[in-house]
Amino acid sequence: MSNNIQGLSLIGGQPVRGNGKPFQAFDPGRNEAIGPDFHAVDAAQVAEACVLAGAAFDAYRATSDHERADFLDQVAAQILALGDALVERAMAETGLPRARLEGERGRTVNQLKLFAELLREGSWQDARIDTALPTRTPPRPDLRLRFVGVGPVAVFGASNFPLAFSVAGGDTAAALAAGCPVVVKAHSAHPGTSELVGRAVVEAVRQCGLPAGVFALLTGSGHGIGDTLVRHPAIQAVGFTGSRSGGLALMAAAAARPQPIPVYAEMSSINPVVLLPGALTARGADIATGFAASLTMGVGQFCTNPGLVLGLAGPDLDRFAQAAAEALKPVAAGTMLTPGIAGAYQRGEEQLAGQPGVEALLRGESGGCQGAPSLFRTTGAAFLANHAMSAEIFGPASLLVACRDLDELLAVLEGLEGQLTATLQLQDEDEADLAAARRLLPTLERKVGRILANGFPTGVEVSTAMVHGGPFPATSDGRSSSVGTAAIQRFLRPVCYQNLPRALLPPVLREPNERGVWRRRDGALTRN
Ligand code: NAP
Repeated sequence: MSNNIQGLSLIGGQPVRGNGKPFQAFDPGRNEAIGPDFHAVDAAQVAEACVLAGAAFDAYRATSDHERADFLDQVAAQILALGDALVERAMAETGLPRARLEGERGRTVNQLKLFAELLREGSWQDARIDTALPTRTPPRPDLRLRFVGVGPVAVFGASNFPLAFSVAGGDTAAALAAGCPVVVKAHSAHPGTSELVGRAVVEAVRQCGLPAGVFALLTGSGHGIGDTLVRHPAIQAVGFTGSRSGGLALMAAAAARPQPIPVYAEMSSINPVVLLPGALTARGADIATGFAASLTMGVGQFCTNPGLVLGLAGPDLDRFAQAAAEALKPVAAGTMLTPGIAGAYQRGEEQLAGQPGVEALLRGESGGCQGAPSLFRTTGAAFLANHAMSAEIFGPASLLVACRDLDELLAVLEGLEGQLTATLQLQDEDEADLAAARRLLPTLERKVGRILANGFPTGVEVSTAMVHGGPFPATSDGRSSSVGTAAIQRFLRPVCYQNLPRALLPPVLREPNERGVWRRRDGALTRN
């Protein structure tokens, strides 16, 4: 497979030159455009990809779990086969360093393999059997439930994870595992990376003998493509990671369709970190160092970045503030993903610095595409009086809030919007810290998708028990996760079969249970 980037989309398994406006990728490290020209698709080409996805759906979902697992493994193999060309292009298009992108490629591949394992294990269909009770009054019919894919899924790649949350990232892997064809809108910040990965997926589709409509990649810049894609009648669900305004626009478009569809958008989170007094006294300096590392990782461009730190006012919190500012001071400005994201970061810093009652503990020198760390401090009372302080600043900036007492700290948490994560720094053996944590937990459970103790929120394990979600605006639907095997549930819906003869039942609901998958029979989990 050639690694030459040609500026093309992929529709029906073929490279296609878009009929729309040309645009170029941008290297934020060198501050210059990079070739070749990419050609945006037009509305007819978006529609063609969607129609092909709709036509491929029944054949694709009829494949066995093992066939789809082999396909996901093949996608992973094809991504690895792209070799260094993929990493180098992603470095140029994002400003992210090699080690980070190599790690992200590993994560992307492992994510695909995790879904392949889930399919081979088989319980993802959540098979349930309520056997017939003919002698009951009234008689109960034979009822059998399994989950099936919802249909073609539109995926919007994220700017900050050009591999793991992009063309063959978590949304795509989950949808393909569920038996749903995928139409990806490539993020305009990394179109070359997208084209390379898209070609790897198309090659896997070809090698596995699947219908070409199972996957399409749409290149372009501007909101028209995404809007047309979400409104196309063949599309049945949307996966998105990006800005709050983008997520809201797509939710509105999806809701305005004659047939509204679900949008799983991950948008905005400031990830509060609570410093409980015992932990602050025992290891405030260590927490400050860990916090600084978490805040500045990847120039702060993580959805789980710790943008808000809460503690009780006093000498321990003052020492923490000083130690955190000192740990952040030597961190040089780093290249941000796009000029737009860097500009938004700098405006966010300015706006927060200008709020009444906010003091800058550290202001790094951000400018151009470079973002430097900043740390601000305010009081619980000032924060509670000013909603603007809780806006996400996407980048390495954080706000430390010194609260009068635990009641005020709880009030600050109560006032927050939904979050992806909340972190408790506490001493495991300290009864006062544990009692305080017990008071906070009911609020945190209502507000966030993942509660951590004694760590930092950056670093999201891809696994079975992970939740990367949370109430709005962390996500558009707090019942879901976009990371880990739970992510497949977004693209499934239940179907019940009542009194169907064995010959017509899907294999997972038939007797005997030939694959020995876990099923819930008359209420009890069994492999029989
Ligand atoms: P974005 O502007 O929301 O773009 C994401 C994708 O959605 C792109 O493909 C974009 O198209 C498309 N899009 C955006 N608005 C749209 C609309 N109104 N209608 C149709 N399609 C639309 O996100 P971004 O460029 O990645 O980052 C911008 C900001 O998002 C950041 O400054 C940050 O605040 C936030 N962000 C948050 C997270 C998070 O995980 N919470 C992650 C990344 C970014 P184009 O490619 O044509 O622009």
